[in-house]
Amino acid sequence: MRVADGWGRFMDAWIPSKCTLCQTSTKNRHGLCARCELQLPYVDPSTVCLTCAAGLPVLDPLVSAALSPLLFDLRKCPICDYEQPPLEVMRSVFHYKTPIDFWVPQVKFHRNLALARLMGELCADRLLELGPALDRWPDALIPVPLHTSRLKERGFDQPLELAKPMATRLPVALRTDILVRSRFTVKQSETDLEHRQSNLMGAFSTNLTPKSRNLPRHVAILDDVMTTGATLHEAALCLLDAGVERVEAWVVARAEAS
Ligand SMILES: [Zn+2]
Ligand SMILES: [Zn+2]
Repeated sequence: MRVADGWGRFMDAWIPSKCTLCQTSTKNRHGLCARCELQLPYVDPSTVCLTCAAGLPVLDPLVSAALSPLLFDLRKCPICDYEQPPLEVMRSVFHYKTPIDFWVPQVKFHRNLALARLMGELCADRLLELGPALDRWPDALIPVPLHTSRLKERGFDQPLELAKPMATRLPVALRTDILVRSRFTVKQSETDLEHRQSNLMGAFSTNLTPKSRNLPRHVAILDDVMTTGATLHEAALCLLDAGVERVEAWVVARAEAS
């Protein structure tokens, strides 16, 4: 895949490149042929919970009609309907299936930034197609920050690499000056499920310099993959404490917790 900046973008318009997945020639702007793009495992938002992106129970239409919309929010799973999580919306663009379950580790562990860009572009296009989940787009897009020592170890920030192409396509401002990873935490994947929330307590803070005091009212926090949601919930609580009114989360995919 060619980097589609400047001359690269110009050349892409004229010379077909190879599809990232099947290697056939394509002039498709993502570097994916139309056939492969159609087969991507997009989530149908009507089948998942609005606030945690878990699959909704499939209800018989008669049962749905009988559950009064005044008593139950059928867009949410029973757990979220019982207790509203700190996120008003959780948007997972893809299922964590082929090729997403290959692409995400390629970015994280092999620094494949072209794939980060591709996923960011595909996510942005899908969100544009679906429109805002609430009544309007968030004012700001905040990639979940890495701790400085993790950033040093990895050499790049994968949520930020995803956020950059999204912010150029969507009507949201990229803000990296608000949320800070203030405490180093053990990797969530190395923590058992029970301790994932406590591992993250106090992990984030807001960077309230005079410049960033002008907090947006409605933000979307962005991460590559959500498993238990503990990281996104902790970041959302921190932003809500700082005075943000609405927080939603966008992820490339929701993976099953292991
Ligand atoms: Zn293809
Ligand atoms: Zn839910």
